[in-house]
Amino acid sequence: MLTIGCHLSSAKGYLRMAKDAVSIDANTFQFFTRNPRGGRAKALDPADVAAFSAFASEHGIERILAHAPYTMNPASDKPQTREFALMALGEDLARMEETPHQLYNMHPGSAVGRPVAEAVARIADALNEVLRPDQTTTLLLETMAGKGSEVGRSFEELAAIIAQVKLSGHVGVCLDTCHVWDAGYDIAADLDGVLEEFDRVIGLRRLRAIHLNDSLNPCGARKDRHARIGEGQIGFAALAAVANHPALRDLPFYLETPQPDLAGYAFEIARLREARQGE
Ligand code: FE
Ligand code: FE
Ligand code: ZN
Repeated sequence: MLTIGCHLSSAKGYLRMAKDAVSIDANTFQFFTRNPRGGRAKALDPADVAAFSAFASEHGIERILAHAPYTMNPASDKPQTREFALMALGEDLARMEETPHQLYNMHPGSAVGRPVAEAVARIADALNEVLRPDQTTTLLLETMAGKGSEVGRSFEELAAIIAQVKLSGHVGVCLDTCHVWDAGYDIAADLDGVLEEFDRVIGLRRLRAIHLNDSLNPCGARKDRHARIGEGQIGFAALAAVANHPALRDLPFYLETPQPDLAGYAFEIARLREARQGE
């Protein structure tokens, strides 16, 4: 069965997210660990976590994906920015162990005027400070569109970070279809070729999650403007092919499409389930 969900608000806790997911025929979901623009995280409510765990196992909800704040930049050479990144990463990873064996996704960072190799080393260094040998959470580095000085615009940049992480067994990759498209990987014309390249450079065993988004812009545009599934330049057929590809079909898929309400996500999930082949 297709494991698919969407980004949900975490304002009302874990149980509420799981119930929202079930209400739109999703069997996973993504959420921010804290205000995406930064700030402190709310304390976890143990009763909510316990109720969530029971509800999730009852309803087959699996591989929930927590998203780090997108303002976090562990590549920065500014002490304050780096300190926030280390604090947020450490705190988030500790919280994730309250819901063991799930996924935590982060944007690698931005080089802001510094050489990419330096940014890569600083990101790896941050991960070496926060990863723990006994953690059950897998940390995912997201493929980026390449706007500004984003690190992670190429498979090579992600591979370079992972190569410098000591506990790299806890590190994987989340492929965002809008981002790789914007970065110049033509998943519409040559999905097999892009996945072969991913396998050669990073290794497909590292690929643990897919952000399924259409893109408002053409391949290589480096813009990062998400579109609803089938309303962008990647198109419905190409995105359905991603969800059906033998190398990808068992991964969890998360929609990050612009929607006014849950009904928009319910519609996309229904269409993608409908397009699922071979079951
Ligand atoms: Fe993201
Ligand atoms: Fe994404
Ligand atoms: Zn994006």
